[in-house]
Amino acid sequence: MDGTQKLNIAIIGGSIAGCMSAILLGKGGHNVSVYERSRKGLVGRGGGVTTSRTVLDQMKAADILDADFPSSPYSELQLSKVSADEQQFGRCPLTRALDMNCVHWSGMWENMRKRVPDAVYHNDMTLTEAHDNGTSVRLEFADGTTREVDLVLFADGYNSLGRRLLFPDHPLVYRGYTVWRGVVPERDLIREPHLEIHPRFSLRSSKGSFISYMIPSREGSDAVGDRLFNWACYFPLPEADLPDFMIDNAGEARVGTIPAGAMRPEQDNALKAMIREQLPSFYADIIAQSQNNQIQQIYTSDLPAYRKGRMCLIGDAGIMVPPLTGAGVFKGFTNARDLAEGLNADDPLDEILEHWSVKQTRVARSMLAMGYDMEDAFIWNTIDLATEPPEACAHWFDRSIRIAKEFSYFAA
Ligand SMILES: Cc1cc2nc3c(=O)[nH]c(=O)nc-3n(C[C@H](O)[C@H](O)[C@H](O)COP(=O)(O)OP(=O)(O)OC[C@H]3O[C@@H](n4cnc5c(N)ncnc54)[C@H](O)[C@@H]3O)c2cc1C
Repeated sequence: MDGTQKLNIAIIGGSIAGCMSAILLGKGGHNVSVYERSRKGLVGRGGGVTTSRTVLDQMKAADILDADFPSSPYSELQLSKVSADEQQFGRCPLTRALDMNCVHWSGMWENMRKRVPDAVYHNDMTLTEAHDNGTSVRLEFADGTTREVDLVLFADGYNSLGRRLLFPDHPLVYRGYTVWRGVVPERDLIREPHLEIHPRFSLRSSKGSFISYMIPSREGSDAVGDRLFNWACYFPLPEADLPDFMIDNAGEARVGTIPAGAMRPEQDNALKAMIREQLPSFYADIIAQSQNNQIQQIYTSDLPAYRKGRMCLIGDAGIMVPPLTGAGVFKGFTNARDLAEGLNADDPLDEILEHWSVKQTRVARSMLAMGYDMEDAFIWNTIDLATEPPEACAHWFDRSIRIAKEFSYFAA
């Protein structure tokens, strides 16, 4: 392939990773088409996502986001736990410097989506089959239509059809814990300085952890009073319990997610009672107000590569790392950026894709290693932050987590 050759590229999935790919490859002059299963706009998988300021700045520089796209920055993580003496806010024996920015998921997606022309973004198109013929890929959709393209990028999320087609022997692995999360409008909360901090609490008498941070409103306001208090509680849930747990308020069995508004009220109330037991009262009081909460099971996947032939994986369709890493946006962005840059080279397409795949696999695996460390430290084996001295907590933290050099929201 010479640097001037332009490809017909199909992108399966028009979420964060799909839109980033469409923007960057479209800028490179390629003929991109996005095929998205949803009938209309996407709904966020939770209110907020975190990434690093560096990644956000790179996305703005690449014109994937508006230069003034709002985020809530945090420069410190407070590791805390409710203690006998600190019932309201908890005891914080350890802090770590952060370079973290928090954004509204839907606000970010809408900001990206407006850069993808409607003429190339096709809703209500569910891919059902893909066949690589060596020099092209034939795609089949649920409505019976077919397409023949030079390259297909699967940006179809954690339960990717592309991943299953390319690597059927590498299923998703449930990690033994689940997240319950939601948002509360800041205007409904009493002003308190603790609203401005970013804590990670371990639970009083259970494995698991809780985080909270502010995000700008979906409309893009980061003014005090307009923001949203975003919270998430990770708690152990054995795989055998999932079938009973994942029943929604209409009595339907869900897989992976119970979206906002679909949780059974008794389940939501039981989790609120659990939080009352496990967290300082300041946070339990806020969560008691939280409506339309949602559930997500936590999965990972490890893969030997990011492509086979002319089929590639992008974002969560590739190696899935624990959400504690906050690496989802980073992975989608770097997968798309590296591919767009690689396709400018004068090398044969096969070589370009292979080189790209090796790099994406290496970087994602270092994220995965960090994610496993974080799971162990923050979910399963947290030091007792209610009683241990600060020096012991610092030693525990530094020994527990190997920070991946490619990406971390911890400050260097
Ligand atoms: C609990 C949890 C917490 C998270 N927290 C963070 C965080 O703090 N920071 C962070 O950076 N990331 C976080 N993430 C990850 C983040 O949400 C994703 O990385 C991000 O949304 C990018 O995902 P994606 O575009 O690859 O896939 P998705 O957002 O899952 O999108 C996949 C798209 O593909 C479409 N699709 C699926 N199958 C088909 C098909 N057959 N045909 C057509 N379309 C199809 C879907 O409709 C969907 O729109 C979190 C994820 C979870 C589960």
